[in-house]
Amino acid sequence: YWVRWWATSTFGPQSSYVYLLVFGILVFLCIIIGFYRALAWFRFSIRAASRLHERCFWAVLHSPLSFFIANPTGRILNRFAKDQNLVDESLPITFFTFLESTVFCLASVVLVCITIPWLVLLIPVLLAIFFYLRRKYMASTREIKRWEAVTRSPIYSDFSATLEGLITLRAYKLQAPVTNLFLHQIDINSRAWFSFLMSSRWLGFRLDMESAAILAFVSLFAVWLRNQIDVGLIGFALTYTMSLSGLFQWSVRLSAEVESQMTAVERIQSYGELPPEQGYVHGGSLDRHKESLESHDFLHFLGGSRRSGEPSGSKKSEIEVVAVPSALQGGTVDLRDLTVRYRKDLDPVLKDITLHIDAGHKVGICGRTGSGKSSTLLALLRLNLISSGDILVDGMSLLDMDLQTARGKLALIPQDAVLFSGTVRFNLDPFSQHSDEHLWDALADAHFAEHIRSLPNGLDATVEEGGKNFSVGQRQLLSLARAILRRCAVVLMDEVTASIDFRTDRLIQETIRTSAVLREATIITVAHRLRTIADSDVIVVVDAGRVVEIGRPYDLLTSPDHVNSFYRHLAENSGEFDDILRGAATKVETNQ
Ligand code: ATP
Ligand code: MG
Repeated sequence: YWVRWWATSTFGPQSSYVYLLVFGILVFLCIIIGFYRALAWFRFSIRAASRLHERCFWAVLHSPLSFFIANPTGRILNRFAKDQNLVDESLPITFFTFLESTVFCLASVVLVCITIPWLVLLIPVLLAIFFYLRRKYMASTREIKRWEAVTRSPIYSDFSATLEGLITLRAYKLQAPVTNLFLHQIDINSRAWFSFLMSSRWLGFRLDMESAAILAFVSLFAVWLRNQIDVGLIGFALTYTMSLSGLFQWSVRLSAEVESQMTAVERIQSYGELPPEQGYVHGGSLDRHKESLESHDFLHFLGGSRRSGEPSGSKKSEIEVVAVPSALQGGTVDLRDLTVRYRKDLDPVLKDITLHIDAGHKVGICGRTGSGKSSTLLALLRLNLISSGDILVDGMSLLDMDLQTARGKLALIPQDAVLFSGTVRFNLDPFSQHSDEHLWDALADAHFAEHIRSLPNGLDATVEEGGKNFSVGQRQLLSLARAILRRCAVVLMDEVTASIDFRTDRLIQETIRTSAVLREATIITVAHRLRTIADSDVIVVVDAGRVVEIGRPYDLLTSPDHVNSFYRHLAENSGEFDDILRGAATKVETNQ
């Protein structure tokens, strides 16, 4: 407009400097506004992306075990890697450009209509054609893109498989067929990609035709109405109409792009709305949770590296040593009609389990593979779904407590011991609450101190990912030490000694009965090797999710009431009946 006014000297024949100055100011304002527009937009999108990520991260961390069982790790990681990357990096830019070009197109049309109002009559027809084309284009590109993605993944996976199996392929002289297969896959993928390009061309051509039609009409009207409208305005209208071609199809293509990238937002959002484990409050504790993670340097440790200049682990432990209670109290466990499943839509794996365990008792659970032994221990920690019944520890229902308190009462040594990458110290005491002395005591109780002492850095020796630099048995010993350190009144051991040699197993069983910490604790041990639990106070036999037998081991083996006892069967089948009997008898004797 200003240029038009300038050209026609609307404000009188003033010196051209005034026009130039105003024009300069206008351009400068455009730059400033453009800059702040971009700043505001990207701030907004970064904040939105962080919020999405935080919510998603919290929700996944607090999801029940069933979520991780149902979703493969790759899929979860993909949300945090690929989808989050799209939301962080591509979407803001695409969305911004889309808004910019769309607003530009709209503004051009509006300006042209203001100049030549007759064009308003044409707009509905043009819009109808536009929406028809867009719908057709969107429907096909969505499919074509999916097809392109589907045909792309075998190229990558086969290529890496080929590299891994290169020796085999060369040994069998399969280079030619493999190369042909690879080329074939590229062909198929290129077909999809070419179709995608062609569909864009298809749309581009038609939209350009539409822009050309607008241009033609504007020119025709301009000639027709040459005496009624201002020449400056006509020039103005023509300039904008010409820029429509190209820009118009660009914004339509961008809109398709934005739509497909918004599915990443949808996917992250859906994880953010995952229900947390029962006992956690959603959202509210996000900040507290983050603080606790940061203050414990937990995330950082998981990364396996240490920032320079930070105090080493041993120094930290001096600062934060927490007084450990000297004597354990309580430890009575009561299961009442406990029914447990892994997911709502699955059948229960434990049915009406009722069990009373006295404080300080050593209980052995045995039964066939898949009978529900591990599930019972997981239920105590509320890791699977408890559909009915109750769990009482020292008379208090675990189900009424918040999750952290409930789990703090029990220590579990799982069937497949997991170590985190970091140091031995971090694996024993991730929150730096214990002194070195306590750590060594716990290791000694687990009969693992000698090995750790022989490592180059002792407690600060490196533990690789998943504990790969320790044998399976050593991993179990380390997690046993971790459980001892926690001094819980109830300790759950699932096949702790399955991969440990017989001598060490015996030593551990002795420790359980003699060590200051474990002697007082209620210990529930699951074992296939009956010798391990032969001298327990109580034996519980589980079969198909039900408790089928409870009793003192000696009674179950010898009493005439129990000739058909499951435990006796198991013992006889193990071929070690005499050993097991002897173990049980020793226990009886020491008790008397
Ligand atoms: P094992 O001696 O082999 O360790 P177990 O007695 O510990 O066996 P559990 O792991 O408790 O057996 O399994 C009991 C039942 O629960 C099995 O039938 C199994 O199929 C089912 N189950 C175990 N884990 C899951 C899971 N994550 N999702 C669904 N079902 C499961
Ligand atoms: Mg098990």
